Order: sequence, then structure tokens, then C-alpha cells
Amino acid sequence: MPELPEVEITRRGIEPHIVNKKISSAVIRTNKLRWPFPPALSSKLSGHKILSVARRAKYLLLTTDNGTLIIHLGMSGSLRIVNTSTPAQAHDHFDLIFGKKLMRLHDPRKFGAVLWVKGDPAKHSLLASLGPEPLNNPQFNADYLYACARNRRISIKEFIMNAKVVVGIGNIYASEALFAAGIHPARSASRISLQRYEVLVSAIQSVLSQALQHGGTTLRDFTREDGRPGYFRHELKVYGRTGQPCIHCRRPLRAIKIGQRTSTYCSHCQR
Ligand SMILES: [Zn+2]
Repeated sequence: MPELPEVEITRRGIEPHIVNKKISSAVIRTNKLRWPFPPALSSKLSGHKILSVARRAKYLLLTTDNGTLIIHLGMSGSLRIVNTSTPAQAHDHFDLIFGKKLMRLHDPRKFGAVLWVKGDPAKHSLLASLGPEPLNNPQFNADYLYACARNRRISIKEFIMNAKVVVGIGNIYASEALFAAGIHPARSASRISLQRYEVLVSAIQSVLSQALQHGGTTLRDFTREDGRPGYFRHELKVYGRTGQPCIHCRRPLRAIKIGQRTSTYCSHCQR
């Protein structure tokens, strides 16, 4: 599943190909993804230029002078840039056409979304209640998390995976950041000191930045015609490694269920 680093790498990959380009039309090949496509989408877009390609949480925001196209990649979505002569394959559900090039959305599981908002995208119902971004954002700090955690009766793992607390931390990065910070994933969010939240904030930012760097170097070209999800393999220390030795103490990593999600952790290194 595309996580925040993949969505940001996708944003950087498509931006130079579509920003300041005028949209000729849009083609929709399915009745709905997670939600139905906006009505008369092609006429809303045709003739308008893409002014910016931004990201909020895992939403891509393609802003035109007529409104903003919101794209979510869901569980399996990917975007690429190809020539208009490239035939659409199975699961190629949406094209945004710019003269001789187009941006194509491929999404086998159809959990993605293409939405339209006329005014400020930050006020869209899906975006309005989102917490702060974890990277390059001074609002996301230990004081904020500590204050937010007061009287919360949930585990630290569920706490940092809650998009109202902080966006973009899925199961992979929550597991990795808690391991890096030495915090047991089931520990109550309200029973973690400010000092430990400082360590955790650094750990979250570090695992996400490393993934971005790694993705930037390994992600393949967004313009390859046979391109399929260019998602990079993560270098993971705990996620998906249940039963394998901890890289620090060599004891086997354990798994527990927290909020229906499997959490792999080291019972010796994480307290
Ligand atoms: Zn260990």
C-alpha cells in the first residue's frame, strides 16, 4: 500500500510533467473507485492549467484555476505519465490528458479516489479534520504529542496511527518508529513522558525521511510505458520480521495485535 513516502515521491515524479500544463480532457473508464467520480469531471478540467501539485497526508492535490482535483492512491493505486498513443490496460481507470501526454491512474483494487473541490481543498470533509504533517512542520513536536495524549486511553501505536493526531503514519512506519524509539507499541499513549515523546518525534521523522531518500534513489521513472507501481522496497527493521532476530539484541521479534493490526516488536528493546 502506498504510504506517505510513496505518495510524496509520486508527487515529485508527476509534478514536472503536469505543472503549468493545460488539461485537454479527462477520460474515466470505470463507474467508481472508492467513491463515484465527480459528475461532468472532464468539462470541469478541460482548458484549465495545473497551477500546483501539492500533497496533504496521502492526498494529492492538483490545483487548477477552476478548482482542485484530489487523488488518493488507496491500497494499490499508482500514477504515471505516458504518451496519449499508449493503449489503456486493465485497471487503468482514469486519464488526465495534456496534449500529447497524459497522466494515468492504475488501481487494481479500486480503493483509490478521484474527487473534485471548488474552493479551498483544506476545507474538504476528508481533509478538514486531519492532524499535522509529520515532516518539515514545526507544529509536529513532542509538546504537541504529549499534550494531545493527555487522558487518551489508547496504545501509543494506535495514537500515532490516528490521522487526527498526525497524518501519514501507517502500520509500517508506526512499527519502525516505535522500535527506533524503544517504545513498546502497546504502552498507553498517556503514560509516555515528554522526553520519550521527543525521542519518538525524531524517530518518526527519521524513518519517514530515510524512506523518502531511499525512494528517491530507487523509484523508477514515472514515464516508463510499462511502468507499474514504482513503490520501493523498504528497509525494515521490525515490520514483517516476526520471529526473526532483533538487530540490536538478537532475541526473536514478537507479534501482538493492536487495534486489529499486527505489531511486530522486540520485548527486550521496547518498553
Ligand atoms: Zn531487541
